[in-house]
Amino acid sequence: MSEQLDYRRQSEAVKDRFDRLKQRPVTLEVKGLTKQFQTHDGQLITALNQIDLKVYKREFVCVIGPSGCGKSTLIRILAGLESATSGEVLLDGKPVSKPGPERGMVFQAYTLFPWLTVKQNIMFGLIESGQSKFTAEAEARQWAELIGLGKFENHYPDQLSGGMKQRVAIARALANQPKILLMDEPFGALDAQTRARMQAYLMEIWKNIDVTVFFITHDLDEAVYLADRVLVLKANPGEVEELIEVPVPQPRHPEQALSDEFLATKLHIERLIHPPGQDEEEHLNLVNMVNIASDVGSIL
Ligand code: ADP
Ligand code: MG
Repeated sequence: MSEQLDYRRQSEAVKDRFDRLKQRPVTLEVKGLTKQFQTHDGQLITALNQIDLKVYKREFVCVIGPSGCGKSTLIRILAGLESATSGEVLLDGKPVSKPGPERGMVFQAYTLFPWLTVKQNIMFGLIESGQSKFTAEAEARQWAELIGLGKFENHYPDQLSGGMKQRVAIARALANQPKILLMDEPFGALDAQTRARMQAYLMEIWKNIDVTVFFITHDLDEAVYLADRVLVLKANPGEVEELIEVPVPQPRHPEQALSDEFLATKLHIERLIHPPGQDEEEHLNLVNMVNIASDVGSIL
């Protein structure tokens, strides 16, 4: 079934969706981006090599790739927290060189200010950007309601679950009305059920808010479920392996994870990241299991 289905064999509706997507304005453009690090012993590591990418307005792009392929380095450069060795990053055509309110960040680690309440955490950026305390408070209240934490607006982060903390982090990032939301494995530390709820919840927010999302994950299901397109990176040096148009129709529903398009896309990405036959140890384990099964008689 999904083995035979080529994820690239797009239906007319899917082709049309991506044709229309590419006619939108470009929100983020990455041009020939290269980043090298010098290690303690003087060695030069090329974390990212000649990355080119265009992300369109209100698009949802997921980035996936093996550990160490430069995902976090890429998002930190987009955020302006790190500088590129060469190449450039443009947001709405303007070069990015330092952090700015038009880019909201959400990290895997919980980054709320522990000494501030939910409401004060959300207000923080609004006051920084010059809003009065009165307006910032009213807006923060609305956000707390929107993320279902109205009753918790006066709670402190350590009184919240991991999922709730990340909801506040998303609200805090979105309250500044960024053009793009940059997320580095934001649900990576959550249990599977909470993560699934957070994904559905992020999709719901994205449907209703005019924001482009750039989302790093190491979870294949998460990437295919959330993304319009998935950027697959390879390691040593970090380069673009493929940019995949996910043929699963939008808006997404969890049941689509069982569809042929979903499974075929997932399988394709899995093979890009873990080419078959590359991992000898996994292969040996499988042989052992077959032997054990034949000792006790076939149960298949
Ligand atoms: P990922 O997020 O995909 O796991 P990273 O972006 O964290 O990968 O790292 C990419 C590569 O760059 C790795 O080899 C890592 O060791 C190296 N690297 C990242 N940050 C630094 C740094 N500040 N100094 C030296 N090397 C770094
Ligand atoms: Mg990382």
